[in-house]
Amino acid sequence: MYIRLNNFILLTAFIIAGMLLLALPVTANADASLQKSERAFCDSVNQKFKDFGWNSIICNADRWMVYDYSAKGNPLLYQEFGFNDPDNDGPVNLILCGVHGDETPSIYLCMQLTRHILFDSPQTLKDFKVVIAPIVNPDGFFANTRHNSNGIDVNRNLPTKDWDKHAQSVWERYNKDPRKFPGKQSGSEIESRMQADLIEKYQPDKIISVHAPLGFLDYDGPGDQKYYNLIRVEQRARFLGTNIEANSRKLVKFVDYQFFPGSLGNYAGNEREIPTYTVELPTVKASEAHNYWSDLKYALVKALRFKVYDKQETNPFYAAKAGPRKALHVNYEPVAPKTQEKIPETTTRSIVQMSQEMSGYEYFKYLMN
Ligand SMILES: [Zn+2]
Repeated sequence: MYIRLNNFILLTAFIIAGMLLLALPVTANADASLQKSERAFCDSVNQKFKDFGWNSIICNADRWMVYDYSAKGNPLLYQEFGFNDPDNDGPVNLILCGVHGDETPSIYLCMQLTRHILFDSPQTLKDFKVVIAPIVNPDGFFANTRHNSNGIDVNRNLPTKDWDKHAQSVWERYNKDPRKFPGKQSGSEIESRMQADLIEKYQPDKIISVHAPLGFLDYDGPGDQKYYNLIRVEQRARFLGTNIEANSRKLVKFVDYQFFPGSLGNYAGNEREIPTYTVELPTVKASEAHNYWSDLKYALVKALRFKVYDKQETNPFYAAKAGPRKALHVNYEPVAPKTQEKIPETTTRSIVQMSQEMSGYEYFKYLMN
């Protein structure tokens, strides 16, 4: 009897310990046992690159730092370039690619840009600093989905001020598109937290995020949706947009449309006044990726050098460190650009025409694709 009781206590203790162990690893991130080494990850990435016929780029595990791991255990890679040179007082850039996993040419662009500044043209790193995150959403990349493996759009999940109030209702208003689900809580996803943390850590002067397939360049930040009475910083920010367009061999047209709860344009451009340029490549075709790089290379490298906040100005958000400023616009009703306003000549005619031909809702839906 005595022995049996002891056994019973032991067994109970065992069961309780087991339950505790099971309960412990439940976090938002991957179980550590799932985490892939950078080398194993890059091997899988390189296999995909090969399948796409991308023979001139390679994922080199030694080249990247790891922010954290995705739910499927894939490392979230990034690297800083140009920060070691004390003479480099150029602007700090943050470049994000592969935020949406199925927009593959975006990843090609970041890989080529990395190669370009490391090997083809390292002298350019005297003029700017850049932080590159080449595959922000690796789970989506492997599964060929826009969202991550939790089914969440990591460009709708950033902790913007309007998230709690508007994220769900905006998603519902647009037919609850499962590709654009913002999640149940802002910042719930490691891929969106990475974007926010890189911004916090490096305080970039500007951000370029590469997407597809809308074929335009959207701008969020100082001077957003404003065409006259621009102050200097707004002028410079918009000038850079038109300049990227002008140097892109007609690949992207400079347009300006609204951002969303939890989107980077809102989090960085609107709330933090960081000029944020979303490059939308014209298609998601992997076979077009090299052409896109050829068309954009000059424009991108030139943009990296450009100081939106020049010597006279600093980003008021960084200066104040007082948290996000009041949002510029929080109205998420579908809107078309105000075509009566003075729109720069460079704004695409077809987009403007389309906005006139379609109802506001149709046009907005088109832009949201
Ligand atoms: Zn996208």
